[in-house]
Amino acid sequence: MSPFAEAVRSYRELSPWQVWRHGSATERRAIFGGWLLLLLLCMALGVASVKWSWSGLPFDIGGVTAYVTLYPPLPVCLLLSLTLGWWWGAVPAYCSTLALALYAGMPLQWALLFAGANPLGFAMMVAGYRAIAVGRDLRSLTSILFFAQLSFIGSIFSSAGALIWSYTNHLAPGAHLPIWQGWWIGSFLQCLLIGGPATALLWPRVARWQEAREALMRKRRGGSRYSVLRMLAAVAAGVLIYGYVTIHLAENEAAALPVFRQTVWIFYWVFAAIIVAIAFFGYQLFAHWQASTDGLLSELRRMNSDLERLATTDALTGLLNRRAADRLLDAEWQRARRSGHVSSLVLLDIDHFKQVNDSYGHPGGDAALRALAACIRSVMREVDVAARYGGEEFLVVLPETGREGAFVFAERLRERVAASEICHDGQVFRCHISLGIAVSDKHEASYEQWVRRADQALYRAKQGGRNQAVMGA
Ligand code: GH3
Ligand code: MG
Ligand code: MG
Repeated sequence: MSPFAEAVRSYRELSPWQVWRHGSATERRAIFGGWLLLLLLCMALGVASVKWSWSGLPFDIGGVTAYVTLYPPLPVCLLLSLTLGWWWGAVPAYCSTLALALYAGMPLQWALLFAGANPLGFAMMVAGYRAIAVGRDLRSLTSILFFAQLSFIGSIFSSAGALIWSYTNHLAPGAHLPIWQGWWIGSFLQCLLIGGPATALLWPRVARWQEAREALMRKRRGGSRYSVLRMLAAVAAGVLIYGYVTIHLAENEAAALPVFRQTVWIFYWVFAAIIVAIAFFGYQLFAHWQASTDGLLSELRRMNSDLERLATTDALTGLLNRRAADRLLDAEWQRARRSGHVSSLVLLDIDHFKQVNDSYGHPGGDAALRALAACIRSVMREVDVAARYGGEEFLVVLPETGREGAFVFAERLRERVAASEICHDGQVFRCHISLGIAVSDKHEASYEQWVRRADQALYRAKQGGRNQAVMGA
C-alpha cells in the first residue's frame, strides 16, 4: 500500500480552505454547492421530524417496549462527517437540530446547547477513526465491528441531547425514558442501517477521489498515541454515562425496591472501576507496543541504510561499485541531455597489472588498487564521482566538464599515479595507468554508448603504448 493510500485509509479531512484556494472552479461549485443543498435539506427534515412527531416511537420486541426516534438528517450528516471530515457533517447536523428546536419553541440558549448533541456524537466516531486506521469501506468484519462500536458510542454521546429536551419541555419523570432511549437506539439503528451502508457504498470512490487530490486535504498532525488515549477516554466516558443515565432514568420510572436500587448502584460503581482499569491497561499496552515498534523501526531504518551503503560500495577501495556507477551514469547522461550541457567520462585501467600480481602477490595487487583509489580521490573535485568499474578498471564521471577539462583531469591523474609509490610488505613499487575519455553526446540513444566510446579510447591508449590518456571520438 502506498503511503498516501495508507493515509487515505486513516482518517483524512477535506480542508474547506484548501478547496477554496486550490480547487478548480468545478470542484468548488460541486463541493460547496452540493454541501449547501444538503444542509438546507437536513434543516427541512429536522423540522419535519418534529412536525410529524417521529421521536420516541414505541416498538414491541418480544414483550419489551423499545423506543426509537427517526431523524433523517442524522445518516446524511454522518455520511458527510465520515467521508469528507467532521466539520462537513457537524455544521448541517447543528443547523438542522437548531432549526427543529426553535420550531418546537425551545428557548434560544437551550437550543444552542441542544444542537451540539449530534456533532458531539460524530466527534466521538471521528476520534475513533483518527486513532486507528480502519477503512470505512465496511467490507471486512473488522471494519464492520469497528463502525458498529463507534456508532454505539456516538449515539450514547449524542443522546445527552434528550435530557435537555425532557428538561426544557418539563416532561414528567416517566416520559424521560422513551425520549432518551428513542434517541440513542434510533440514532444507533440509523447509523447502522443507513449511514454505514451509504458510506460503504461511496467509500471506494471517495478514497480514489481523495487520493487524486492530496492538495485539497488537511495536513496531518498529532501522534497516534494521543489519539488512542483520547479514544479510550471517550469510550470509557461513553459507557459510564450510558450506565449512569439508564439506571437513573429507570429508577424514576418505577418505584424500585430500595435493596434492588442499592445493588444496581453498587454494580454500576464496580463496573465503572473495571471500565476505567481496562481503558488504563489498554493505553499502557498500546504505549508499550508502540515504543517497541518505534525501536524496531529505527533499527530497521539503520540496517536499511547500512545495506544500501554495502550494496553500492566496493569493499576494497571504498569507491562506488559497478551497480551504483551504472545508475549514476544513466542519471548523469539523462541530466546532460535535458539541460544541454556536456559531461565527461574517464575510464582507466592499470597497465600490466598481471605482472604486479605476479611480482608482489595478490595482496600487493590489492594495495596497488587501494593506492590508485586514493590518487583518484585526491585529484577529483567534490562534484565528480569515482567508481571501481571492473577488477582493476576504474571510472570517473566529471559533470559539466568538456573535452579540455576532462583531458587536463586525465593527465593530472596519470601523472599523480605515476609519481606515487606503493608500499607493500616492505617493498616499494609504482604503477602506470591508461585512460580513455568520452564527452557526452545528446544524440546517442543511451549511456551505454557513452561508456563504449570511453572504452574504445582506453583500448587505443593501450595500443598506443600505455601510460597515456586518449580522447574518444
Ligand atoms: P593491460 O596493461 O593490458 O591492462 O594488462 P593487464 O595485465 O593489466 O591486463 P588486464 O587489464 O586484463 O588485467 C586484469 C588483471 O587484474 C587480472 C586479475 O588478476 C587482476 N585483478 C582483477 N581484480 C583484482 C583484484 O581485486 N585484486 C588483484 N590483486 N588483482 C585483480
Ligand atoms: Mg590492466
Ligand atoms: Mg583490465
